[in-house]
This record gives sequence, C-alpha cells and structure tokens, in this order.
Amino acid sequence: MLITLYVVIEYNINKTDTEAIMNMIYMDNAATTRMRPQVYEFMLQYMKDRYANPSSGYSFAQGVRDDINWAREKLALSINADIDEIIMTSGGTESDNWALKMMADYFKKGHIITTKIEHHAILRTCEFLEKHGFSITYLNVDEFGMIKLDELKRSIRKDTFLISIMAANNEVGTLQPIEKIGQIALEKNIIFHTDAVQAYMHIPIDVKKMNISMMSTSAHKLNGPKGTGFLYVKKNLPLAPYIHGGMQENNMRAGTENVAGICGMAKAVQIAENTMQIRYETERRMQKYMISRVLNEIPFSRLNGHPVNRLSNNMNFSFQFADGATLLVMLDRQGICVSAGSACSTNEAGPSHVLKAIGLPDELAYSTLRFTINETITKNEIDYTINCLKNDIDALRKNSTKYIRYVT
Ligand code: PLP
Repeated sequence: MLITLYVVIEYNINKTDTEAIMNMIYMDNAATTRMRPQVYEFMLQYMKDRYANPSSGYSFAQGVRDDINWAREKLALSINADIDEIIMTSGGTESDNWALKMMADYFKKGHIITTKIEHHAILRTCEFLEKHGFSITYLNVDEFGMIKLDELKRSIRKDTFLISIMAANNEVGTLQPIEKIGQIALEKNIIFHTDAVQAYMHIPIDVKKMNISMMSTSAHKLNGPKGTGFLYVKKNLPLAPYIHGGMQENNMRAGTENVAGICGMAKAVQIAENTMQIRYETERRMQKYMISRVLNEIPFSRLNGHPVNRLSNNMNFSFQFADGATLLVMLDRQGICVSAGSACSTNEAGPSHVLKAIGLPDELAYSTLRFTINETITKNEIDYTINCLKNDIDALRKNSTKYIRYVT
C-alpha cells in the first residue's frame, strides 16, 4: 500500500515536472543548455555496455581508449589544433584555473594581464595568484564591454608572461578582438589564454590563425554534458599536471576518464559544427526582432553590451525603475527562465562586476535581465515573453515612487 502510494506520488511529481518543462520558455542558454537527444543516446553506450576503464589492458578497454582518441581528434580539428594539444577537463572552471596556475607555477613571479569583465573562474584565480606575489593588471572596458587594444599594449611590462582575455562575455555577450590580441601577444612573445566557454561553437575559432596559446571550453554550453570540457595548450608550452595521480591524459590530469562525458562532448561538438551557420542566422534574426521590440515598446529600457560585436544568442537589457530580481521571479511564474546577470553569480551580493565595468550605475545594474536564446526559439515565444515583460514592468513601475516622481 505504502509502496503503491509512493510510486504514484513519484510518478505525479515527475509528470508535473516534465509537463512544466515542456511548456516553459527557456532563455538562459548562457547558464547551461539542454543536451541534444543524439548526445545522450550516444553517451548511454559508455554507461551500459562500453564501461571498461580505458587504462585496462584488454581489448574491451582498448575500444574505449580508441573512442577517447576519436573524441580528442574531433575536438582538436574543431579549433585547428593538434591532437596532443587537447587535455580533457571537468569544464570551464577547471580549464581556467589550470591555464593560469600552470603558467604562474612555471614563471614563479611576474605580471599577468586580464580584464575586469572575466568570469569568476579567472578573476578568483587571479586574486589567488596576487596573494602569491604575482602582479595583475585588470584592463578596463568601454561602455560596450570592449577592451582597448592601446591600453592592452601600454599595460605590457618586461615581466608580463601571460594575457588572459575572454573571447565572449557571459553576461553582456560582447566579443573581444581575439585575433588582434593574439597578434599583440605574439609580437611581444607573451602567452595568450582565452576563456572561450561562451564563444566556442558560436563563432569559428582557429587557434593557429588567432595566435591563441591556451583556450578553455565547456561542453554544457553547447548542448553537451555538464562536468566536462577541455583545455587547449599549444605545443611546447611548459605543460604541468594539475591533478596528480595516475597516468591519464598523458600524465597531465590523473583520474579515470569521464568517458561518457568526453565522447558526449565530441558528439555535441560534431553537431554544433555542422549547425553553426544556421544556428547563427536563426538566432541573429530572433535577436534583432526581440531587441527592436523591447527598445521600441518598453520605455526606459536599454541594451547592454556591443550593438554588433556580440554573441547571436545574447540580449542583456536594463529596465529602469523595475527591479531585475523581482522581474525574474514574475517571469518565472509565467513560465519564462531568464537570468539577472550571470547564473554563476546569482549568489553574489552586489551588482554584477561586468555591468559595473561597462559603467552602469547600481540602479540600472539592479534592473538588468539577461536573455540567452537558442536556435529553437520561436517568434511566438518571443512575443509572449515581451507581453509578459511589458505587463510585469508596468506593474512594478506603478508601485515605484521613483518612477512616479520621474514621470509626473
Ligand atoms: N567561463 C565563462 C565565460 C563561463 O560563462 C562559465 C560558466 O558560465 C565558466 C567559465 C565556467 O564553466 P563551467 O560551468 O564549465 O565550470
């Protein structure tokens, strides 16, 4: 009897969840993406049948080793790298930590250049390195979130050994001039790392052409599994292990490989590569449509980030006189998932460091929402979202003494 009741409750909870998920409008693809069915079906074989430990000696394990090599080759080809330049990691955070700490460990002292708008995986690592005696320059960005190449050049010192600048910003979507930064780093013989977690598979990346020495990626941002990613490290850089133990990843990252994750990531990359152009075009069209409707129809709204040089899936708006956190909850009740700033920083106190860096006053930073779409978004879903937004913002402003004072 108890068991039956339990099963019924369990079933109902799952059913309700599934129905709610099917009906919701998901606009938080910068936080994470939905895994493609082809990806998880592909991954299943590594949990069901092909479960051998790749380090074992028999042919069953050799087959799994071959699959990891297949994945490594796929990933390498996707950025024009060589196979032995790809190290599997647990995602963006580990890759960022590893890249910076590995170089710091090699150079022992000196100067690193980064920006004020990096993800916390970079900023917190820089703070850690500062405590260990390294000197860090945090470059400013302009009102659109772009670094200034002149400032970068001026910041280079004799002891600068590393430049770490993200390819695309996770909050406002601004794309940095990666190729030009790579050229400057090359001319000055400085290692150039880029956090490409948001950019990889959204824009084409060629590490050779762009003079990138190290690059971080994460599979769950491209319809792949969570907890997996890779770090590209150019040949001949002073590579050192981050996790010590067994001999996996050519002695560089110990621990039994996350085979399902690694192969799932490669499968996701394969699909993402084949669909990059069409995804870009669809997202751009929807992005243009939504930006123009929001800016034209919602008074006191502004688009943050670069008007042109931005990710095709990102829209970051401030709605003056409306609190972003409250709007997020109101939209959630209407079945729409968005983010107030960056998902990774929703537990952070204070306004977003990125919005501060582009010069937004606190009041506007607190009234900001990030919408990150994908290629499956429909015009109807955008229309519904804008209608909800308009109603919710109206309701909030009606109760805002600041707004009432401003407009009367
Ligand atoms: N870097 C950027 C730019 C990101 O947007 C994120 C996640 O949002 C990360 C790093 C961290 O990646 P992961 O979630 O794979 O650790």
